[in-house]
Amino acid sequence: MSVHLYNTLTRTKEEFTPLEPGKVKFYMCGPTVYDYIHIGNGRAFTVFDVIRGFLEFVGFEVTYVFNITDIDDKIINRAKEEGVPFNQISERFTKILFEDLEALGVAKASVHPKATEHVGEMVALIKTLVDEKIAYDVDGDVFFDVSKFETYGKLSGKRLDELRAGVRVSVDKNKKNPLDFALWKKHKPGEPFWDSPWGQGRPGWHIECSAMSMKYLGATFDIHAGGTDLVFPHHENEIAQSECATGENFARYWLHNGFLNIDGDKMSKSLGNFETVREVLAKYSRAVIRMFFLQKHYRSPIDLTEEGLHAASSAVKRLTTFYDNLSSLTAGLGDSQAGPAMSPGNTFVKMRSEFVDAMSDDFNSPAALSILFDMVREANKLIGKQMHSDEELLTLSYVKETVDAFDQFLGIVDRTESDFHSSDLIGTLLDLLVDVRQELRAKKEWGLSDKIRDALSEIGVAVEDKKSGPAWRKMDK
Ligand code: AMP
Ligand code: ZN
Repeated sequence: MSVHLYNTLTRTKEEFTPLEPGKVKFYMCGPTVYDYIHIGNGRAFTVFDVIRGFLEFVGFEVTYVFNITDIDDKIINRAKEEGVPFNQISERFTKILFEDLEALGVAKASVHPKATEHVGEMVALIKTLVDEKIAYDVDGDVFFDVSKFETYGKLSGKRLDELRAGVRVSVDKNKKNPLDFALWKKHKPGEPFWDSPWGQGRPGWHIECSAMSMKYLGATFDIHAGGTDLVFPHHENEIAQSECATGENFARYWLHNGFLNIDGDKMSKSLGNFETVREVLAKYSRAVIRMFFLQKHYRSPIDLTEEGLHAASSAVKRLTTFYDNLSSLTAGLGDSQAGPAMSPGNTFVKMRSEFVDAMSDDFNSPAALSILFDMVREANKLIGKQMHSDEELLTLSYVKETVDAFDQFLGIVDRTESDFHSSDLIGTLLDLLVDVRQELRAKKEWGLSDKIRDALSEIGVAVEDKKSGPAWRKMDK
C-alpha cells in the first residue's frame, strides 16, 4: 500500500516516500493570533488533522509542527486599538485558538512553536543570508534579494520577469527590487522589538515559518501545508530564504487546501464575511462540521451553506445510529478476535481496503466516505436480522472495529449525540423496560407488554426478541 499525494511544487500526484522510512516530518502554517479563528481557518486545520491522522493510521510516525504566529502587524494593530501590550492579545487568542481546535476535534501537534520564542533562530538565519549577500540591510530593515535565487517562483509557477512586470511601483523605497521582501523590520516607536546585528526590530512573517520548521524538522523535511492563499508569496518566500541559507532542498511535498467560500467569495477576516468556529459550533456538532469538510476533497473549494451543513448533519445521524446499534449488538465481544478470523474475500474486509485505497489516493475523503456508507448499508442488513449467528456477530464486531479505527482520524461519529449508549442512564432505563416487558410476557400479559414495545417504537427504539433474549436497538430514521 502506498500513499499518493498532489504536490503543488511539481503540479502532479506523486507517490509519497518520506525521507526516513516510516517517519513523516510535517509542517503546517498556523494562524496569526489576533482574533477568533473562522470556519475557513477551521477547514484548513481540520483537513490537515485528518491527513496527519490517516498517515498515522497507515503506520507512519508523524512529527507534526503547527506554529503560532504571535508577532505580526495585525496583533500590534489590535493591541493599539485596545490600548494593551501586544502579548496580551496574542496570549488571549492563543488560548482561544486551542479551545477552538479542541472543540473541532483537532489533535494537539507534536510541537506548537511560537514565533516570539524563536527570534534567535530567525536572526541566525537572516545573518547567514546577509553574510552570503543574499539579503541586504538598509538602515535597520533587512530585505531578501529575490534576484539571488534563480528558481524563485518555482512553487507558484510564476516567473520572475512576469512578476516584475506586475509590480510597477515599489511600496518601499528601501528595496532594490519591488519583489524583495522583509526579513527584519526596523523598530518603530510603540512596537515590540528584539535585538539584532541590524539594530532593534522584529522578524518578518515569512522567516518565522522557515526558522520554526527547520528547527523542529531539519533543513529538508517531508510535508509543508497551508491554504492555497499561502502559495504566493508566503511559501514561495519560505523556499527562497531557506534554500539560500542552507543550500539544501526545503520541503519536499507541498499540500494546499482549497478555500471555504461564502456567497461566492472566499471567507476572510478582511472581507468581514466570516463566521467563527464558535458560531458554527453553537449550531452544529463537531462531527457535523468535520463531515461537512470531508464530504469535499481537501483541494476543492467548498461553499458554506445551510443545505450543505444539513446534508452533513443527516449523514452524521445515519452513521451515529448505525454505530450505536453496532455497539449494542457487539457489546461484550472482543474486537481483537474479529480481524484474524475474517476471510480476505469478506465484503467488509474488501470495503475496508477500498476505503484505505481511496484515502491513499491524495486523501480522497468523498470517495472514502461513499465506501464507508456502502459499508453502513451492508452491515445494516445484518443488524436488522432477528437472529444472529456467532459468525455474523463476529463480522459485526469487525465492522465496529473498522469504524472505530477510521473514526480516530475522521471524527464523524457524533459521540455527544451517541446518546443511547454513551448515556448510562438512558441505556439502563431501556434495559429495565425491556426486562419488565419480558416478565409481562412470561405472565402472558400481552396487552401491557405490547404497549411497552409500541411506546418505545414511537421514540425510535425497536425491541427485538432474539435467540439470546430480547434486546433494544435504535431505529434508522
Ligand atoms: P491565517 O490566520 O489567515 O494565516 O490563516 C490560517 C490558515 O487558514 C492558513 O493555512 C490559511 O491558508 C487558511 N485559510 C484562511 N482562510 C481560509 C478559507 N476561507 N478557507 C480555507 N482556508 C483558509
Ligand atoms: Zn507559514
